[in-house]
Amino acid sequence: MAAPSRFDTHEVTNQSPPFADVDLFGLDIALQDAVRANGAGGEVKALAAFGQRWGTAEMLELGRRANENPPKLRAFDGNGVRQDFVEFHPAYHLFMAESFAARLQASTWRADAAAAPAPAQVTRAARFYMAAQVETGHLCPITMTRAAVAALAVEGDLAAKLMPKIAAREYDPVFRPWPEKKSMTLGMGMTEKQGGTDVRTNTTRAVAAGEGYAITGHKWFMSAPMSDAFLVLAQAEGGLSCFLMPRFAPDGSLNGLRFQRLKDKLGNRSNASAEVEFTDAFALRVGEEGRGIRTVLQMVQLTRLDCAIASAGLMRMALAQAIHHARHRVVFGKRLAEQPLMQAVLADMALDVEAATALVMRLCRAFDLAGDAREAARARLLTPAVKYLVCKIAPALIYEAMECLGGNGYVEESILPRLYREAPVNPIWEGSGNVMCLDVLRALEREPQAARAVMAELAEEAADLPGAGETAGFIVATLSAGDSEARSRAAVERLAMLAAAAALRASSPAWVTECFARTRLATARGATYGTSDISAADAAALLERALPG
Ligand SMILES: Cc1cc2nc3c(=O)[nH]c(=O)nc-3n(C[C@H](O)[C@H](O)[C@H](O)COP(=O)(O)OP(=O)(O)OC[C@H]3O[C@@H](n4cnc5c(N)ncnc54)[C@H](O)[C@@H]3O)c2cc1C
Repeated sequence: MAAPSRFDTHEVTNQSPPFADVDLFGLDIALQDAVRANGAGGEVKALAAFGQRWGTAEMLELGRRANENPPKLRAFDGNGVRQDFVEFHPAYHLFMAESFAARLQASTWRADAAAAPAPAQVTRAARFYMAAQVETGHLCPITMTRAAVAALAVEGDLAAKLMPKIAAREYDPVFRPWPEKKSMTLGMGMTEKQGGTDVRTNTTRAVAAGEGYAITGHKWFMSAPMSDAFLVLAQAEGGLSCFLMPRFAPDGSLNGLRFQRLKDKLGNRSNASAEVEFTDAFALRVGEEGRGIRTVLQMVQLTRLDCAIASAGLMRMALAQAIHHARHRVVFGKRLAEQPLMQAVLADMALDVEAATALVMRLCRAFDLAGDAREAARARLLTPAVKYLVCKIAPALIYEAMECLGGNGYVEESILPRLYREAPVNPIWEGSGNVMCLDVLRALEREPQAARAVMAELAEEAADLPGAGETAGFIVATLSAGDSEARSRAAVERLAMLAAAAALRASSPAWVTECFARTRLATARGATYGTSDISAADAAALLERALPG
């Protein structure tokens, strides 16, 4: 039964209905096009079922509850005995169960920890992108679990033991040693107080002991503390090394992980991020001593990819909310969506969201086809560039979407404040903006031929689009200049823009691609949304495409 809208003093009118019970896949034409263009056309039916499920009012409501009831650290019991247990709201566990059922934590791996065949990356990314629209905090352990497999793969025997638990469909939150559980999740601990980017400064020590190592030290950020095991960096005799540290020691006792407190974060509230000390914690080495950074880099590439996919998802939900509201709200006798200035703002945002969607899906295709050296080089060069651009534009876009809802957008009952608070973690975590630019430079320095070939390919794929030639020339000139480090943000941003134009050309209608290139490559966009030169006809078409009404 609908809630009464008549009060003693007034009737509730001119408010938009909730954007709930929506089909997150069926309403997202850009996503459908990108999925098809990147080899996952055969998965459309399954993705549609996922989009319907995750767009239900029930799931959206669970997202609110999971974030309004953040996890609590139970460091001790009432008798002062250490528990080191983090308690999550049931809504968080429900999201974990849903994501496990869809195997978001493992679907890109085969049972032997080798890469699953194409289009596993694109299909998972489409699901991950839709899940991020509803609840992003729980995706932290989901991301880390799937990415950790890339590092664990260097230890075949260990990976073989863990994979059946990692790849299971049934989420198991019970706090017991992982061999006794139906499934497991993995976290990672790299960042210490004195350095997160520069993990060479890690002071945590690892000493060979029995069948493994005893690790003593601390981590300043270690998210998803209820994970069953963590990939941890520590200094061993041979140098910085990677270890797998389980929550329980082999004798079944609580391992030496002592949580100090949970971070009081801007957003990402449903997820816990802990400060932790290790006291002779048992761990197994992963990879050779002294090669810890090289080992975790396998994993980091995948977490960076997920940051970009999630940010694209956050933007998509913000845009959909804004268009939905503008279609219902009447101001000065006309719906907002029909007002030329609002159309200009929404259409400008829609271009960025479609570009981000096409860009991340095309990047996932490169991961799917990484057996081909050219695609592997594309994944290597573009992952930091795409993370840089997509994660960085998300907060501004979400803010603009919030403003489209007026005051309601600023109020917690709308999802916009949560999306907005969530957005800045993706650019900071796993390599902040500058670090991404330096990583693009590193790829160019280490494998100059392969990186230059990727840039040439992008220029060719975007050829004839307005501004593509000039953009490609600028990127090459800037990245080869003597002061390339200081100027790399400009080049990396343009590189990702060029890659977006190429990705759009492969998946979106020609008029969308042309509009993107004309307003993003040929001319610099203004500092705010709504400043691009988009015709009224294109604006109307962009809105209809972004949210078929
Ligand atoms: C919510 C949240 C969860 C997290 N979870 C985890 C986790 O589970 N595990 C984990 O290990 N870490 C985690 N982190 C830590 C995160 O990965 C680090 O904060 C991040 O890598 C940056 O490291 P830092 O904080 O030490 O900053 P710094 O390394 O000090 O960097 C500060 C700034 O300097 C810039 N910078 C760095 N080097 C250069 C350079 N050479 N030139 C120019 N600029 C530079 C960076 O881009 C950044 O903007 C988490 C962080 C957050 C916010």
